[in-house]
Amino acid sequence: MSTFKAILVSRDEEKKQSVEVTNLNDSDLMEGDVTVAVEATTVNYKDGLAITGKSPVIRHWPMVPGIDFTGKVLGSSHKDFNEGDDVILNGFGVGETHWGAYAQKARVNGDWLIKRPSGVSAKQAMSIGTAGYTAMLCVMALQSHDITPERGPIIVTGANGGVGSVAISLLSKLGYEVIASTGRMEESEFLKNLGANEIIDRNELSEAGRPLGKERWAGGVDAVGSHTLANVLAQTKYGGAVAACGLAQGFDLPTSVMPFILRGVSLLGIDSVMAPKMVREEAWSRLASDLDMTKLENLTTEIGFDDLISTATDIVDGKIRGRVVAMM
Ligand code: NDP
Repeated sequence: MSTFKAILVSRDEEKKQSVEVTNLNDSDLMEGDVTVAVEATTVNYKDGLAITGKSPVIRHWPMVPGIDFTGKVLGSSHKDFNEGDDVILNGFGVGETHWGAYAQKARVNGDWLIKRPSGVSAKQAMSIGTAGYTAMLCVMALQSHDITPERGPIIVTGANGGVGSVAISLLSKLGYEVIASTGRMEESEFLKNLGANEIIDRNELSEAGRPLGKERWAGGVDAVGSHTLANVLAQTKYGGAVAACGLAQGFDLPTSVMPFILRGVSLLGIDSVMAPKMVREEAWSRLASDLDMTKLENLTTEIGFDDLISTATDIVDGKIRGRVVAMM
C-alpha cells in the first residue's frame, strides 16, 4: 500500500473544526518504533467528542482520531514486537495527541502496544474495544475489593452503552446478579439477553437524591457520573464498592461523605488510558476467557471505514446500542 486512507480532523485560524477523508503516505505518519496495518477499530464516546468537536479531546492539530485499534505489525524496531505480530492499542493519548486508529496504518510507540491474546480475532478485539476493556477493569476492581456474587447484585449504569453492555455480559458470566439502569427501557429484552436480571429506568437515579438510601446493591459499574453515581453510592450496601469510569451524565459528583463514613462504601476510580502494561495484559487475557463471544457478537454492529464519521455523531447523540466494530 503506497498511500492509505485516513480521516483527518483539522481546524482553521478561527479554531473552526473540519473533518475530511484523505490519502496519506508512510512519511506523513508521526514518530514511533512500530508501524501497524490497522485491521479494525471502533467508535468510542471519546472519538465521537473528538470528531464532532463537542469537547476538547484533540490536543494536536491536525489529528487522525481513533483511540484504539488492532492490527498486524508491518515493521518494528521495538524489542517486544516483530513483523506479523497481532497487536492491540488502547489509549495513551492516541487519537488525542498522537495520530490514531482512523487510518489504514498507524505508527506508535511500542510501549503502548500489547499482543492480541490468541483465540481473539481482530473483529472480536475491537468489538470489545476500549469500552469492553474498561468494563473488564471495572469488574477486576470490584473483584479485588472482594465483591463476590454472594454479597448481592451489581448495578450497571449506562447499560445500553459500550461499557455497560460488556460489563453486564461479563458480570453475568461470572455469576453475579445484575441490575441494569437505562434510559432506553424499550431495549430491556436486549439487556436481559446479555444477562441483566432486572432493568430500572435511569430516571430513578438521575436527579439529586438523599445522602443515604435503602441498601440495594453490593457494587456498581458506573459509566454515567453526576447524580447517577451519587445515588448509586447512596444505595450501595454496607462495605460495598462502586467502580467509576465514565461521565455520560456529567463529570460532577454531587455526593456527601455519608456512604463512605457510615457504610464503609468504596469508590474505585478506573482509568484505561494510562493503565500499566501488566494491568492491560491481565484485562485482555481475562476478556479472552471470561467474555461470552456469542453475546459479544449479539451486542456488536459492524461498520466500514466510510461509516466512522456518521457513527461518531450517533454515539454522541446516544443513538448507539452496545458496541460498534469498524473493519478497515
Ligand atoms: P456509550 O455512549 O456507548 O454509552 C454511554 C451510555 O450512557 C449511553 O448508552 C446511555 O445508556 C447512558 N447515558 C447517556 N447519556 C446519559 C445521561 N445524560 N444520563 C444518564 N445516562 C446517560 O459510551 P461508552 O459506554 O463507550 O462510555 C461510557 C462512559 O465511559 C463515557 O463517559 C466514556 O467517556 C467513559 N469511558 C471512560 C474510560 C476510562 O478510561 N475511564 C474508558 C472508556 C469510556 P442508556 O441508553 O442505557 O441509558
